[in-house]
Amino acid sequence: MIPGPIEYEQNVLSTLAMPTIAHTSKEFLGIFKETLEKTMKVFNAKEGLPFALSGSGTLAMEIGTVNFIKKDSNVLVVNTGYFGDRFVDLFSRFTKNVDIYKPPLGDAADPKVVYEKVSGNKYDLVTVTHVDTSTGVRNNVKEIAKYFKDLDTVLVVDGVCSIGGEEFDMGWGADVAFTASQKALGAPPGLAVGVVGPKALKVMEKNPPLSFFSDLRKWQGVFKNMLELKPGYFGTPNVNLITALNVSLTNIMNEGMEKRIKRHEIIAESFRAGINALGLKMIPNGAYANTLSVQYLPENVKQAQFLQDAERYGAVFAGGLIPEIKEKYFRIGHMGSVSSSEVMISIGAIERALKKNGYSVKLGTGLSAAQEVLAKYDFGIPF
Ligand code: PMP
Repeated sequence: MIPGPIEYEQNVLSTLAMPTIAHTSKEFLGIFKETLEKTMKVFNAKEGLPFALSGSGTLAMEIGTVNFIKKDSNVLVVNTGYFGDRFVDLFSRFTKNVDIYKPPLGDAADPKVVYEKVSGNKYDLVTVTHVDTSTGVRNNVKEIAKYFKDLDTVLVVDGVCSIGGEEFDMGWGADVAFTASQKALGAPPGLAVGVVGPKALKVMEKNPPLSFFSDLRKWQGVFKNMLELKPGYFGTPNVNLITALNVSLTNIMNEGMEKRIKRHEIIAESFRAGINALGLKMIPNGAYANTLSVQYLPENVKQAQFLQDAERYGAVFAGGLIPEIKEKYFRIGHMGSVSSSEVMISIGAIERALKKNGYSVKLGTGLSAAQEVLAKYDFGIPF
């Protein structure tokens, strides 16, 4: 139950045991084309260039930004946690002109404040982390993105902890969005996956490259070729992982995005009900993610012991990432193929681990509250 890597469907995992076919074969071109097309669907992108490259989400952060800035470009980081700090660190390699909009811990960015900061095309590029995995805060990308339709500024959305599990639509106005295979896309770690919209592609043509492997100019021909079933090469693609991602994207399409997002919402709501009933305080002040839940531990409960006990009781959770409070809270990932079973096992393990660590709790309190939420919904499938 950590926020990625998640648990993968059996048909995705068994794909990894297939022989590695030639990356130039007709069969693989077909797989790559399908993967890119389904990526566009998951991102709700009608136009633009999809990409899937060997690397983790951090590579996606680099590809998704360095192609659209020049040396010493003006950039703004909308920072709602650890992965906002990572953008600042990334930009420090390329430009001196980095502004940061950092709401108080737990708050989402105010779209109006973003608008005031970006109006008049003051920035070449702005980054927003849709869901910051360190805080569980979900930014209102829909409201933020709409301002960028009339700006030259490129809006980059880090959707590593959201896309595939949260509602997202490139049509809202994002110019670049990306994620990584190991999270809500449901394939093992190793692929940086994203979509670059037309405005960003135009900006890229004017900018001198700042990197080599991350230079999308080198890759765009490859992805365009794949979409036309023609071979293309800059670096050898991760044949097995792309094949596995294709299977997972088919699973996602079979479930249907709308249903999948609703399922994530219900699971998140039932987790929150359980956590609140146990008297734990969540870090987000209202803007909760549906892909993970992030909450403080009670004062006297030691994180290391709590996590170890919870694991013995059946659920592996993640510790904190925000340096100043990292031992005071824990994170539950609930993206991908999660269902009511994961809620029950997790809340059950949390209750028992809290009790074992001296916190006064009536066993079943959290489970009961979580059940009440699940009982409100009828999905018509085992859930
Ligand atoms: N952005 C966000 C929001 C993330 O959650 C993560 C990974 N947890 C990253 C970026 C970086 O991804 P990776 O660890 O795959 O490099």
